[in-house]
Amino acid sequence: MNIILFGPPGVGKGTQAQLLAEKYDLVRFSSGDLLREEISLSTLIGRKVEQFLRKGHLVPDDIMYEIIGNFLLENRDRGILFDGFPRNINQARSLETNTAQIGKAIDIAFEMRLDEAEIIKRLVNRRYCPKCGRIYNCTTDPPKEENLCDNDRTALVTRDDDTVDIIRRRLKIYEDETRPMVDYYKSLGIYCRIDARGNREEVLRQISDVVNDYLNSKCRSN
Ligand code: AMP
Repeated sequence: MNIILFGPPGVGKGTQAQLLAEKYDLVRFSSGDLLREEISLSTLIGRKVEQFLRKGHLVPDDIMYEIIGNFLLENRDRGILFDGFPRNINQARSLETNTAQIGKAIDIAFEMRLDEAEIIKRLVNRRYCPKCGRIYNCTTDPPKEENLCDNDRTALVTRDDDTVDIIRRRLKIYEDETRPMVDYYKSLGIYCRIDARGNREEVLRQISDVVNDYLNSKCRSN
């Protein structure tokens, strides 16, 4: 099974991606995490993309295609959860072609929805663990010990692009470039909208209900 999770920044994609990957034994392709790792290792790609992330702009498609191409080849035998990729119509079309070439298909594309005021509130309070990637919220979902990751006690950090100005730019880019994917995935008959207002367990339940129905219907038709 291959799933896409998309939605504006701060909607909880990363958190749900971690939970779903574990629950359904999927390998995660989290484009933002991979790019941040390239930057922290100062690789060739990392140096090319750093400015884009810092300013909240999308990284050029050709760089993303290089990263996703390698990932698909390495994981051709696994179910994949795409978190943060694709992010525009060209990337969506390219993913369709690339997955077909290795005998895969996207089963469901989930769009997570939340209103802007709530997104900004969540993002300015967001902290993450640079070691394991776990995401926290200082007010609604803090770590047990102040500013230390529950998993590995690494000091939590704030992302450079989680400032109000850059958050607004990322939201605008979402509306202009990513939101049009809704019609694309509707046309493929695999679009599903998720209300991201609840806590992580409530949102996970909504997504899991759809995934379980899908898996059951596949079972019945076999
Ligand atoms: P995220 O962690 O998903 O919020 O992504 C952080 C940043 O990484 C974005 O603001 C973009 O600069 C970049 N990025 C992540 N995924 C993509 C993508 N599929 N295409 C272009 N840029 C991306």
